[in-house]
Amino acid sequence: MNTLVYSIDDNAENAKTLYVNLTNKCTNACVFCIRTTVDAIKGKNMWLENEDITTKDVIAQLEKFNKPEEVVFCGYGEPLMKLNVLKGVCAYLKQNNIKVRINTNGIGNVVNNRNILPEIVNLVDEISISLNAPTEEQYNEISKPKSKKAYKEMLDFAKKCVENDIKTTLTVVDEHPDYTLDIPACKKIADEIGADFRVRKWLNNGY
Ligand code: SF4
Repeated sequence: MNTLVYSIDDNAENAKTLYVNLTNKCTNACVFCIRTTVDAIKGKNMWLENEDITTKDVIAQLEKFNKPEEVVFCGYGEPLMKLNVLKGVCAYLKQNNIKVRINTNGIGNVVNNRNILPEIVNLVDEISISLNAPTEEQYNEISKPKSKKAYKEMLDFAKKCVENDIKTTLTVVDEHPDYTLDIPACKKIADEIGADFRVRKWLNNGY
């Protein structure tokens, strides 16, 4: 069975935060990606048997848990590549007064060929966007994006999230053995666009 909903809490049934795994597809191939080191989280295989996922499928798995405080879209792929399913699940979560956060690589407007902010602004409370590096050159080394314009696209998406009053956080992964980050330069970028900034320590088991 596809693992569409998972918890990193030992007491999964009563977890305050649940995570949704919508897809294994991604436009990046980050050097720190958990997908390169781990197949399962808390014993749940994160590789999907198929990508034919519906909103109903996700809600059915959510309802196996007690009501959480928050649901985070964060799986073995880029959640905004499954925009319609994501919007359907978010609508259900909002109806049930559950907070919604999306962790994204920031290419939502590109993969969907339009500005998606008007479609998600009332469905999402928080968005975390992978800045990954303070320069386009280092971003390309770390994130290995398919699109040559990915860095600019990601920053443009982040600006639009801030403009739409979504609580926006730019994130970087520090202490990875393959690169060194200029953290103050990364924070400056977040400050300039009005986003929060978070440094995550690299852990090779991902959590
Ligand atoms: S954007 Fe996320 S899912 Fe995609 S390769 Fe990077 S870490 Fe992995």
